[in-house]
Amino acid sequence: MILLFFGPPGAGKGTQAKIVSDKFNIKHLSTGDILREKLVDKSELSNKLINIIDNGQLVSDSIINDLVSERINKEDCKNGFVLDGYPRTMEQGIFLENYFKKNSLKLDYIIDFTIDNKSIVKRIKARSLIERRKDDNESVIETRIKKYEEETKPLSAYYMKNYKKKYYNINANQEIEKINEELIKKLENY
Ligand code: AMP
Repeated sequence: MILLFFGPPGAGKGTQAKIVSDKFNIKHLSTGDILREKLVDKSELSNKLINIIDNGQLVSDSIINDLVSERINKEDCKNGFVLDGYPRTMEQGIFLENYFKKNSLKLDYIIDFTIDNKSIVKRIKARSLIERRKDDNESVIETRIKKYEEETKPLSAYYMKNYKKKYYNINANQEIEKINEELIKKLENY
C-alpha cells in the first residue's frame, strides 16, 4: 500500500503515519525526519540546510527529490510506504508523478488533513514541550503556515481533481484517537 499524507504542519500527519505504518507494515517516510537525521555531520551544506529548516523555509526541490527517490528505492519500501511531508511544492508533485510512472508505482490513497490555524499553533506548541524543535516557536510556525498556504496547498486541488476516489479529506481538528479511527476504517476497506 502506498499512501500520501498531505496537510499543514501540526495537523498530526506524523503521528497518524507512525500508527498506520506499524499497522499495515509499510515504511514511514517523513522528509522532515530524514533531513533532521542526515544533517548531523556539521558540513557546510548541512549547516546551510539546518538554517533553512530552523527558519521555516523550504529546502530546495532538487535536494528533496533526490532524497525521496533514493529512499523509495530501498528494500524496506517494497511492501509500501507512507509519504509524510512530501510533496510540498508543485515541482515536487510533478517529480513524484513522473517517478511513479517510470517505476510503475501507484498511489493508493491521498489523505488530506484539514485543520484550522488556531489548532495548528496549539498542537505545535504542545509538541515543542516534548520534542524541542527549533522551528516549533511561534514566529517560525507562522512562516511555516504561510509557506504551506503559498507553496503546498495548491497541490491539494490537483490531487482532488486528478485522484477523485483515491483522495480523502479528513477533519484533523478532531482528537488524535478519532482521526485514527476514521483513517483506519478508510484504509481497511482498501
Ligand atoms: P516537517 O518535519 O515535515 O515539519 O519538516 C521540517 C522542515 O524540513 C520543513 O519546515 C522544511 O524546512 C524541511 N522539509 C521537510 N520536507 C520538505 C519538503 N518536502 N520540501 C522542502 N522542505 C522540506
